Amino acid sequence: MTERDAPSGSPRVGIVGAGAAGVGAAYALRETDADVTILEKSGGVCGRAATRRKHGCRYDHGANYVNATDDRTAELLEDLGRAGLAEIDEPVWTFDAEGTITAGDGRDSKKYTWTEGITQLAKRLLDRTDATVHRRTRVAEIRRDDAGRRPWALVDADGVSHGPFDALLLTPPAPQTAALLRAAAWDDHRREALVDAVESVSYRTIRTIILHYPFGESYPWYGLVNPDREHAIGWLSREECKPGHVPDGESVLVVQMSPEWSTKRYDDPLSAVVDDVADRVATLLDDERYRDPDWADDQGWRYALPDDAVETAPFGGSVGESAEERSLVEDVADAGLYVAGDWVAGEGRVPAALWNGYETGEWIGERVG
Ligand SMILES: Cc1cc2nc3c(=O)[nH]c(=O)nc-3n(C[C@H](O)[C@H](O)[C@H](O)COP(=O)(O)OP(=O)(O)OC[C@H]3O[C@@H](n4cnc5c(N)ncnc54)[C@H](O)[C@@H]3O)c2cc1C
Repeated sequence: MTERDAPSGSPRVGIVGAGAAGVGAAYALRETDADVTILEKSGGVCGRAATRRKHGCRYDHGANYVNATDDRTAELLEDLGRAGLAEIDEPVWTFDAEGTITAGDGRDSKKYTWTEGITQLAKRLLDRTDATVHRRTRVAEIRRDDAGRRPWALVDADGVSHGPFDALLLTPPAPQTAALLRAAAWDDHRREALVDAVESVSYRTIRTIILHYPFGESYPWYGLVNPDREHAIGWLSREECKPGHVPDGESVLVVQMSPEWSTKRYDDPLSAVVDDVADRVATLLDDERYRDPDWADDQGWRYALPDDAVETAPFGGSVGESAEERSLVEDVADAGLYVAGDWVAGEGRVPAALWNGYETGEWIGERVG
């Protein structure tokens, strides 16, 4: 269904961002009569839960897996179809600042992705909705028309207007949401209060380096994490532990560098950093062969993980106690404006973003339905 085809009486909901939160909201709205339009700036869906293909390999270079330790996530993954759902059996172990590797405590069980990559999460959720998704459509401006029946509109980077919408949900990382709100054509004290709250969320930056090797090696672990955060490598995992990702006899390592290293070397070309990363991997795994990958790839995540939650979160564990905080959220929602994402939930995890979006979608459904 296109925006133009939508029955004129149906409430219209505009969503900025097709990450877990935006798609979760669309999924929650699937059985209402709301007409949902999602604008997504990138060419794919699922946001920071991203998958890339190269030289016959497939790798999840943002979020590496979805943890399904809570019942509703486990049920949802089941509902989305068992075919292609891939559980990662091997555990996550840890390493310290000196690079000493220690067996994990088994807490990180029920780790899932899909043979076709973690983006299947958003694709499968969207398949169950009638939402219209405009990819490669960066929202450049939010407009508000108080005189209109549907007050909100979005203008993309090509100057195309989308809407009007009864309700608007913003899901980009907090700094990007703050920038959109700051420039929004909505002259209202609630906008300024929301901008202040959203701007205060800080983020860790992560640069992911992907290293390919023409050999396979067996280890008792799938991933290694550095909990003390004092090593230049924050996370290292083996995509070959995921069915369908790496041909037999090859190896793809996903190496997420620490926020300190990533910030310092964020803009250096891959060719200038790959030797440094490969040397560190070889030292950590105590194997000289890792110094010489036969190809590499990378992705910078400027806003990788939120450090905290926005103080005016409508859902999640961060709902403000004071009447003042509650009233800002309620006030903003009264104007038909909503925010969702991992920074609203207060946890940089896919399920946290997904369920925060879902609950916000339910809330929107109740209010506009
Ligand atoms: C390197 C890395 C590793 C991680 N590892 C894990 C892990 O193993 N497990 C886990 O559960 N979580 C992990 N996370 C965290 C997880 O990826 C995020 O918490 C979650 O994906 C956030 O979802 P979201 O919908 O809130 O935001 P996003 O996924 O960022 O979605 C927001 C969307 O908005 C779009 N957007 C932004 N601005 C605009 C605009 N102006 N117009 C249109 N669209 C716009 C973006 O392109 C994006 O698609 C990791 C994150 C990173 C970066």
